[in-house]
Amino acid sequence: MNVYDSELVGSLLNKSGYYATKNIKSADVIFLNTCAIREKAEETVYNKLDSLQSLKKNNPSLLLGVLGCMAQNLKNEILESKPFVDVVLGPDSYRKIPEIINNRNNSMDHYVDTKLSKFEVYDDILPSRKNGINAWISIMRGCDKFCSFCIVPFTRGRERSRSIDSIKFEVIKAVQQGFVEITLLGQNVNSYRTLNGNFTNLLEEIAQIDGIKRIRYTSPHPQDIDEDLVRIMNKYNNICNHIHLPLQSGSDRILKRMNRTYTKQEFLSLVEMIRHIIPDCTLSTDIIVGFPGETEDEFEETLEVMNKVSFNLAYMFKYSSRPGTKASEYSDQIPEVIKQKRLEMLINIQREITIIENQKHIGKTIDVLVEKESKRSIKKWTGRSEGNMCVIFDKIGTNIKDIVKVKVKSAHGVTMFGEPVKLLERKKNEAA
Ligand code: SAH
Ligand code: SF4
Repeated sequence: MNVYDSELVGSLLNKSGYYATKNIKSADVIFLNTCAIREKAEETVYNKLDSLQSLKKNNPSLLLGVLGCMAQNLKNEILESKPFVDVVLGPDSYRKIPEIINNRNNSMDHYVDTKLSKFEVYDDILPSRKNGINAWISIMRGCDKFCSFCIVPFTRGRERSRSIDSIKFEVIKAVQQGFVEITLLGQNVNSYRTLNGNFTNLLEEIAQIDGIKRIRYTSPHPQDIDEDLVRIMNKYNNICNHIHLPLQSGSDRILKRMNRTYTKQEFLSLVEMIRHIIPDCTLSTDIIVGFPGETEDEFEETLEVMNKVSFNLAYMFKYSSRPGTKASEYSDQIPEVIKQKRLEMLINIQREITIIENQKHIGKTIDVLVEKESKRSIKKWTGRSEGNMCVIFDKIGTNIKDIVKVKVKSAHGVTMFGEPVKLLERKKNEAA
């Protein structure tokens, strides 16, 4: 989402006559687009700001700004501890950028705008994208779910969806620019709804646009995934058979405390429904370990669900207390050493599951979208499977952006290795 937002800001800067530079020392304006989801993301920004302070000393007219969730959340702290920051803008205030730049002068005071909007979706601004394979397209912003650990509803504000027409317009433009994969984005992407349709309707309309080889979406909430959606995914070849299904915890008590709105059993039934309709659907997830009050047994329950579902991939995090959220006020916070131990245990278990799941592909033929030359050899491409797994194979007569049929030969870690079916056929003919 931040990549997309940065592309929006890039577009606004272009309109003001500013262009990207590769040499940061020559920059007249620097904006850091920030994330507040975990404490570590914030630390990274504070460190980066410190390193930018010296540029400001050499070039006093340099305009330095902090944008995004951290700006929203920590405006006072930023201005107090980093007074050299000129501009602080929350995620709904980017339209102010041209005005700020046009009115800038060396003695200007701080400019702060962190008002959240119920309506802002930036639907009339086309982001300035670099050429590539995948175009990110934001379809909704904000979140109304208020999971007790999460800062997003506070930093991004209320849910609002963009019109289907404006999304389709942006998708068509991206295809004309040469993008072959579209990833629909939202903090809660599948709670998208407008008077003209819900997320499933939107997905179906996008799937019918000519020239899109692949469609992905992230991040959905399990509560908003239903059979209609999965059936539409199954109906259209260009919608990737991959669902990111954030579990967070395998314990009902913790799920309730997290305000996740589903039980372990409901989650497992959802997985069953998905696999019934799309048997080879790749599933990935997000897990938080060490949520306040999580006992050893409750952590074990998470491991059990991980083993039961056998996710292809998981993003695993230690719980990070976010001031202002409900969970940050719970008195039974878990010590750092225990969180770390649980995280390591979970990562080890998931690593093995990922390898087992990848090895199940050995001998099968999968579609791979070619992305770039492999770092391992100039004779090989690296691309992605529908399930978003890395696959490396011989180039033979194929090009970047092609979808190539590859027979998987081996799998190590998160990477699969294979041979294009065309090459195998050629070898067979030569042998005959
Ligand atoms: N909307 C998505 C998640 C978006 S945030 C959903 O509901 O599933 C991405 C992930 O960051 C979350 O799934 C969660 O696993 C993690 N996360 C969010 N807040 C966190 C916190 N306070 N500490 C640790 N991880 C967190
Ligand atoms: Fe955060 Fe996702 Fe929960 Fe919204 S649904 S509060 S973004 S974790």
